[in-house]
Amino acid sequence: MASFLHGARPVLLFLMRVALFGDIHANLEALEVVVADAREQGCTDFVCLGDVVGYNANPAECLDIVRSMNCPVVKGNHDEDAAGDHSLDSMNPTAANALMWTRQQLTEEQREWLRKLRMVRQVSDFTIVHSTLDQPANWNYVTNRFDAMSNFSYQFTQVCFHGHTHVPRVYVKDSKVQEVSADSVVIEPGSKYFINAGSVGQPRDGDWRACYAIYDQESKLVVFRRLEYDIAKTQQKILDAGLPEMLAARLADGR
Ligand code: ZN
Repeated sequence: MASFLHGARPVLLFLMRVALFGDIHANLEALEVVVADAREQGCTDFVCLGDVVGYNANPAECLDIVRSMNCPVVKGNHDEDAAGDHSLDSMNPTAANALMWTRQQLTEEQREWLRKLRMVRQVSDFTIVHSTLDQPANWNYVTNRFDAMSNFSYQFTQVCFHGHTHVPRVYVKDSKVQEVSADSVVIEPGSKYFINAGSVGQPRDGDWRACYAIYDQESKLVVFRRLEYDIAKTQQKILDAGLPEMLAARLADGR
């Protein structure tokens, strides 16, 4: 019998090797390198973990690329803020400045696409969310195993991928919850996994290279990929656009 999950997407037989990418943040050079690498790595499917826009200088271009992939996408907090007209006064001024600029770069139709993105989706045998499953609209940050515990109470698939902190990380729950930093992880029976795929366009783990993850459903292996891109070009575009200089500087620091 054909097996279909919610969202009417055919599962398992077709979804064999998935590229999970998010926190692109309008970094076109990083996104292009990631997409090309995923194709080279034989990925059959793409899944986007949100924050397509914000911070960097190519929001419309990145949004168009992600849309053209016709892949599952969840909403990030920057997507929500770029799509709305609400005040950003409570936000960190650098991020708010970039978001005000981003709103002007997007058409109303593009903003509507962002507005309609869902917070949580199930894709094949795994779940995706930008921040956490317990309160996805609160945009909580998972920075340690204690933060991850409340997520696991709401995680009904063995594996869930997320983003938001811009730090690639794996939280594993068996009899207890542990945090693992590794280049790859094997999905073992009996454990649950909450996996941060890192950030394509603004990594914050001290490594400036673009980050994404590949989940191979057949081998049950998740591998993190790090890729160099033309960072000088991205930085120059940020300065040319009149965006805050620190947004260019932080890319090189990976913070
Ligand atoms: Zn982000």
